[in-house]
Amino acid sequence: MFSTASTVLKAPTSTEIRRGADPKVQQIVADAIADIRARGDEAVREYSLKFDDYGPDSFLLTEQQIEEVMARVPQQVIEDITFVQKQVRRMAEAQLASLTDFEIETLPGVHLGQRNVPIDAAGAYVPGGKYPLLASAHMTILTAKVAGVERVAACTPLIQGEVPDATVAAMHLAGADEIYLLGGIQAVAAMAVGTETIAPVSMLAGPGNAFVAEAKRQLFGEVGIDLVAGPSEVLIVADETADPFIVAVDLLSQAEHGPDSPAVLISTSEEVARKTLEHIEEILPGMPTRDYAETAWREWGAVHVVDDLDSAYSLADEYAYEHVQVLTAEPREALERMKHYGALFLGEGTCVSYGDKTIGTNHVLPTRGAARYTGGLWVGKYLRTCTYQEVTDRESSAFFGELTGRAARVERFEGHARSGDVRAAKYRGETLSW
Ligand code: NAD
Repeated sequence: MFSTASTVLKAPTSTEIRRGADPKVQQIVADAIADIRARGDEAVREYSLKFDDYGPDSFLLTEQQIEEVMARVPQQVIEDITFVQKQVRRMAEAQLASLTDFEIETLPGVHLGQRNVPIDAAGAYVPGGKYPLLASAHMTILTAKVAGVERVAACTPLIQGEVPDATVAAMHLAGADEIYLLGGIQAVAAMAVGTETIAPVSMLAGPGNAFVAEAKRQLFGEVGIDLVAGPSEVLIVADETADPFIVAVDLLSQAEHGPDSPAVLISTSEEVARKTLEHIEEILPGMPTRDYAETAWREWGAVHVVDDLDSAYSLADEYAYEHVQVLTAEPREALERMKHYGALFLGEGTCVSYGDKTIGTNHVLPTRGAARYTGGLWVGKYLRTCTYQEVTDRESSAFFGELTGRAARVERFEGHARSGDVRAAKYRGETLSW
């Protein structure tokens, strides 16, 4: 399967190929989207009852309900959310500042320009099936607001029948304009196609399980999507300087996302790899989230030993994983030597959990090989890069008129050619004719 040579100390037991969509999930999602498109709110309510056992008259939280939630959330949680949102905002604002509108003049009076224009309405999906993933509210809603998106509709499911208070608080503090207690395919489809009570958005963003990711993938085209951000993946590149206990803890910290979250170690040191395997077996029995972490590790976990760091980086590139952690003597060299990853975590001082929860880089990242063609969610995903042109010099327009006439006739577009002809004729004082 991989072209880079390695000794495999632990292979996954699952035989599923982790690229693109799962056909079983694809069918369930296609049926639900078609039904929601045909029957609107009634179908949304039925799917919410079926998958989440929740079918209220309205999924939208009122201002009063939001106030009640805010009053229930402990002050320390509010302060922490506020701090983290400042980190996320600073990163998003720096990204926005890196995008400059420009205009150039290529010939006298020939002006070509580009502007970054925010989309008007975005849908933010904040996952909540297994855990209240409130950090996804900062990543999706706040980033959209920094980009200048006017309307952000945001959805999150109930967790075991309860309103996820801290998640709703994070959604509110991030600036969501509408908050719906709605999850899964029904949330994504309702925001994309619109229903009697939920106005459609132009773009969907946010991570989620395989159903959420597949729903976004199928709706792409009808609406924009940020990227396919499905079940989390972690890959650690470690040399002989890595601490095997930290490697083990960090691998399992990502495996706990869910039973389909793979964790992979590529090490240049067999000793580090073997000790990591031992620590994993010691840690797993005591993990409160053992059910998910152990299934994920047994089914998807992999450990490779390679000859050198060149092989480690090229095997990591073949995986093209969402999170890549580099625990080596010179971690920054991965910036130059690796190509395919959603986010890099350089050195022991940081970890994927910082990125997931607090540090401020966006945690909505590509999975299932999508890192080969896209990075993660960022402010630019909420902006449309639109071009414009103006020609204010009559001689320059006449020049382009003649050039366009010739170019269009090569392609046999006579109508296009005439748009050029008439300008060349008019601006040179010649008689206009069709
Ligand atoms: P979720 O909110 O994504 O999904 C929960 C919803 O799934 C439920 O509300 C339900 O409606 C629906 N659902 C559950 N079982 C279903 C079934 N059999 N058929 C149809 N619909 C069903 O929450 P989650 O399940 O906890 O998943 C969150 C995911 O987000 C995890 O896999 C995590 O790894 C991933 N994640 C990814 C990134 C990223 O950037 N790639 C970031 C954070 C989290």
